[in-house]
Amino acid sequence: MTTLHSERVICFNCGNRNRVTVINSTNTLGPPDLDTRPAEMMRSAMWNFIHKCKYCGYCSLDLSKGTDAISEIVKSPAYRKLCKGEYLRKGASEAARYAMIIESEGDLVRAGWLSLRAAWGYDDHNKSPIAREFRIQALRLFKQAQTEGKTFVKDPGAEEAVLVDLYRRSEQFEEAMETAKQGLAKNPDSNIQNVLKFQLFLCSEQNTKCYTVQKAIDHFDTPKKEGEKKKKWWRFWK
Ligand SMILES: [Zn+2]
Repeated sequence: MTTLHSERVICFNCGNRNRVTVINSTNTLGPPDLDTRPAEMMRSAMWNFIHKCKYCGYCSLDLSKGTDAISEIVKSPAYRKLCKGEYLRKGASEAARYAMIIESEGDLVRAGWLSLRAAWGYDDHNKSPIAREFRIQALRLFKQAQTEGKTFVKDPGAEEAVLVDLYRRSEQFEEAMETAKQGLAKNPDSNIQNVLKFQLFLCSEQNTKCYTVQKAIDHFDTPKKEGEKKKKWWRFWK
């Protein structure tokens, strides 16, 4: 169950007072999507994590905090583009704006996850071309993080499992299949093997739809490796 409360906060960037919704608690029951998107209640509640100033458009986990460099980003044409037109969609726009701020601070891994979150938001608003744009952005950030020796998911083959879905859902099937094979070569646990094999199957059909991890396990029931423990759904990607 999700519980929320509202708070008043003064925006660091413009000094105006906003009322924001804060999550006290939430939970997730059931399998995540192949790209880690959690099941309900977290699936809906997550949009409350990032707060937006309704006056200047600044987005943050805490609107009362910021830096001069962040104020410059908020003023930039690239940021302002996310505050209007096709990009202005509840939840998605906030994640996209916050991703830009986090990238400007050099945290490629968090910026990658936030870009993926923006893509989920645009999926929900049926804005497929923009969702694709943010999947490609997430790919760029995760790949750059890897180049710099940063890890964004720990288990063997798990980073490939995230990347392959980003490639597949942005219609880059060859890259997706290559990435799935690289992941399988790392001898991951049975769940990740199921996911990577399922991705190869989806790519062979040029399928760009969203599926849950359960669907992958039902499709390819790879036997557990010796000594492998059954994982809870919400620990799947840990
Ligand atoms: Zn403001």
